[in-house]
Amino acid sequence: MALIVQKYGGTSVGSPERIKNVAKRVAKFQAQGHQVVVVVSAMSGETNRLIALTKEVAASPDPRELDVVVSTGEQVTIGLLSMALQDIGLRAKSYTGAQVRILTDSAHTKARILNIDEAPIRRDLQEGKVVVVAGFQGVDEKGSITTLGRGGSDTTGVALAAALKADECQIYTDVDGVYTTDPRIVPEARKLDTITFEEMLEMASLGSKVLQIRSVEFAGKYKVKLRVLSSFQEEGEGTLITVEEDTNMEQPVISGIAFNRDEAKITVLGVPDKPGIAYQILGPVADANIDVDMIIQNVGHDGTTDFSFTVSRGDLDKTVRILDGVKAHIGARAIESDKAAAKVSVVGVGMRSHPGVASRMFRTLAEEGINIQMISTSEIKISVVIDEKYLELAVRVLHKAFGLETA
Ligand code: ASP
Ligand code: MG
Repeated sequence: MALIVQKYGGTSVGSPERIKNVAKRVAKFQAQGHQVVVVVSAMSGETNRLIALTKEVAASPDPRELDVVVSTGEQVTIGLLSMALQDIGLRAKSYTGAQVRILTDSAHTKARILNIDEAPIRRDLQEGKVVVVAGFQGVDEKGSITTLGRGGSDTTGVALAAALKADECQIYTDVDGVYTTDPRIVPEARKLDTITFEEMLEMASLGSKVLQIRSVEFAGKYKVKLRVLSSFQEEGEGTLITVEEDTNMEQPVISGIAFNRDEAKITVLGVPDKPGIAYQILGPVADANIDVDMIIQNVGHDGTTDFSFTVSRGDLDKTVRILDGVKAHIGARAIESDKAAAKVSVVGVGMRSHPGVASRMFRTLAEEGINIQMISTSEIKISVVIDEKYLELAVRVLHKAFGLETA
């Protein structure tokens, strides 16, 4: 007998029919002798609808009240799923985040979980009940309802699994696992049987939207066995997210190709090559709460140098305005920007022990005549910035060059 936490996303509970299907799946696990805790999202589209409603009554809604409204989507689904479970003969009980007591800090709309009181859930499980918990929400010290940020139900699922020391946390979604890259771009993309936490974090932060990043961090930290599966397929093992040391199999060199279209590049030309320049350029950008991604500074010539970095496209105009304001003070010659940039990355823990990944990546792009504008690397990732119009081509040729369709 195992204790399993199952999280079902918005599309998996998107209609009464689908909620009944979830109930059947839960019943199947219980019939096998497992204890099941279910975490659900709001029905698909519901959270967006609620946010839109708040905007109709207030230009900038108070965050505390915003959380009161947007948390209701999940309250509907826990009630409906519990009823559907009872309707097929199971004992089931729903809990809002506050009723469990998922204690969070008070950062409304992006709260962090501090503690979970798992005792009542354990009691219900021992009595043979299925426990149904609202994802995405918690409560702070003052008793105010909080939410965990978009996609936060994943984090609720993982946090509950950690608190209950569950044997497995299963995330049910509309795809059957984590893929080597986006199958809409590369039809030969393959579902991975396993991926390490570190790789998953890189893939997630690079735009693969299968899991909320914070849930992956959480699972890695508390060593929660995490699996991504489809709620629309009866069979299938999905993708297991593993701790690297636990897999004794030989790792492939590259596990996936991630990409992000939402990049913009800024170059500050002819700045004095002296201490403090990077700070003078990026300090005001950070003060405006703009995230900077890749940064490159070249060797200087004649006492000056060029400084480039990327931001997300929506932040480009604001960033240029900020830099125009400090340009004279820094002593820069000009500021150039490029909206049509994109980032492509190869990700894999295997590159720690296999040299030559970078050269193979650069050769592959060169053979297609794709110019690399910027490069950055980490231990398990190499990213390049290229012209957006070559993005799909780059993803396709890299997927092939690293043998990902057959690995
Ligand atoms: N319902 C919330 C959202 O749409 C939380 C979730 O689905 O994970 O972001
Ligand atoms: Mg989600």
